[in-house]
Amino acid sequence: MKQFQIEYTSDEQLTRELDKIALWVKNTMTSGVCFQIFAETMDHQKVGSICTAINKVIPSASYIGASTNGNIILGAKSASDIIVVCSVFEYPTTKLEVIQYDLTADNYEAVTADLIKKVDERPWVKAVEMLVTIRGMSMTGFCRELSKLRKNVLLYGGGAFNSDINSSETYVFSSVGEISGHSVVFVLLGGEDLHISTDYVTGWKPLGRELFVTKAKGSTLCEIDNKPAYYTYQKYLRIGNDEYFFRNTLEFPLFYYYNGINILRAPTAALPDGSLTMTADINENVKARLAYGDPETILQEIKKRRNDLASFKPEAIRIYSCAARRTYWGDTEISNETMPFNSVAPTSGFFTSGEFMRTGRFVNQHNVTLVVAALREGEPSDVEATDFSFMSDESAGKFSLINRLANFIEISTAELEEANARLEVMAVTDELTQIFNRREIQHRIKKALSEEDASVSLVMLDVDFFKKVNDTYGHKVGDTVLRGLSAMLREELDRVHCNAVAGRWGGEEFMILLSNCAPGYADEVAEMIRQSFAKLEFNGCPNQTISLGTAQAQPGESADSLCTRVDHALYDAKSSGRNCVRSSQKGK
Ligand code: GH3
Ligand code: MG
Ligand code: MG
Repeated sequence: MKQFQIEYTSDEQLTRELDKIALWVKNTMTSGVCFQIFAETMDHQKVGSICTAINKVIPSASYIGASTNGNIILGAKSASDIIVVCSVFEYPTTKLEVIQYDLTADNYEAVTADLIKKVDERPWVKAVEMLVTIRGMSMTGFCRELSKLRKNVLLYGGGAFNSDINSSETYVFSSVGEISGHSVVFVLLGGEDLHISTDYVTGWKPLGRELFVTKAKGSTLCEIDNKPAYYTYQKYLRIGNDEYFFRNTLEFPLFYYYNGINILRAPTAALPDGSLTMTADINENVKARLAYGDPETILQEIKKRRNDLASFKPEAIRIYSCAARRTYWGDTEISNETMPFNSVAPTSGFFTSGEFMRTGRFVNQHNVTLVVAALREGEPSDVEATDFSFMSDESAGKFSLINRLANFIEISTAELEEANARLEVMAVTDELTQIFNRREIQHRIKKALSEEDASVSLVMLDVDFFKKVNDTYGHKVGDTVLRGLSAMLREELDRVHCNAVAGRWGGEEFMILLSNCAPGYADEVAEMIRQSFAKLEFNGCPNQTISLGTAQAQPGESADSLCTRVDHALYDAKSSGRNCVRSSQKGK
């Protein structure tokens, strides 16, 4: 394939360039010609005249286009407000087809169903390129439906945008549809000899402890860790809710784990109630991390991906980069991260209001991300890509100060999290028996009783004449008996037909909490445990016995009352001769 890239300055200059392409097309075997027109202007007429010129000079060509927040040509941010990129496919097997649909929040299911049908009818399709108007519309359902595309069909593309980042006026268009503020354009690409590879890069890295999104709705992130989401930015990063909010938070967007990958969302504004408006939908009840971006770390990641991509030997590279990245870098430095790709193959694209890519089965809407698609016809060439000298190469092996500090936070956080996790286990575990301690089992009894329809029962047990075991065989042997009893409890409770946990109540007394169990079931469990314990053999002393009491919670009964009743039932068992089960009668 061959790629022509034009920075539009005037209709005359465009016609001259188009004539050159037409001549080339005329003298070469071609299977398809597709133009991409990316415009940082809302001037429909200007864009329309470009379409007319293409139609006139190369009538067989198809074209697609979108309004953008800036354009990328030959790896750099274009100075011109319109770029025209022409891809000429040369292999006879290569096929492409442009489709355009009206797209609204109400019809996306019909649109995706029709696209999927078309792709199914065309076994040659390998990838779908997409330009879409987002305009604040939730793309979650749309992406979910697109995920039903035939397996192994790639999808990549971007959301149309506006040169004014605060404007939601956007458009897309194509050779099969009008310039429209509510449309999606797809290019089906494929054929035996066309090879496409996609990748996404952020360069942002996770920072600090895990956060939990406790409340979110659409693109509004209401609460993190049960507090207004804005507090996280205020507390950890001292970012004020002022006119610089977006610019400042851009260095620290949120990573959240979705569809098996880390996806970035950036806050665009903090609302008076502390909610954050995000760049796109974010799910509730997901784990999230703050992410940080610093130029050197980002470029290191870009370098890695650029080198991976070079081995694919592409002939053209498309970039769909978030407009937020342009804001982050600024217009003079943004090319630092796009130019490296141009040293692999002619690179063009635009700054989007959302980047789309299929990873595995899922089509995801990314933010603050660079989606890259690499195209090649035929086998990879033997020609090595030219080396690219990276700015950060000068400091090979060195990391930026912020990278080192972030690494310090990352490792310290991981160590603290591990220590916390160990402490959490210790805080609820009885050291000798390694089952729950009294505090934990008490807590769980209270919790179970507070749940509706939990049907809670307790079984309390105590080793018979345990003092004698200690006195006769020694304290160590006594400990062995307690450990054996606990291990047996764990095993038996694994087998019961309800939720069951055991804890050490104190000394040689144990408590079992059963919830969601049938009336009378506690007595069965108790009897089973009594028999199992009687069969247990110990190193150093003969078999022992236990006495057990049971009690079933009455509606509205308190934990104290239930525990007292089960204790009385155990006392009954002791006074009835031990090695038996007694149950507390209602109200007793
Ligand atoms: P009963 O059948 O009435 O329950 O008689 P008992 O001897 O089991 O009851 P008592 O309450 O008189 O004795 C309990 C003994 O349990 C006393 C104490 O030394 C022993 N004990 C408590 N905690 C531990 C422990 O962690 N390890 C060992 N080896 N013994 C313990
Ligand atoms: Mg005892
Ligand atoms: Mg006792």
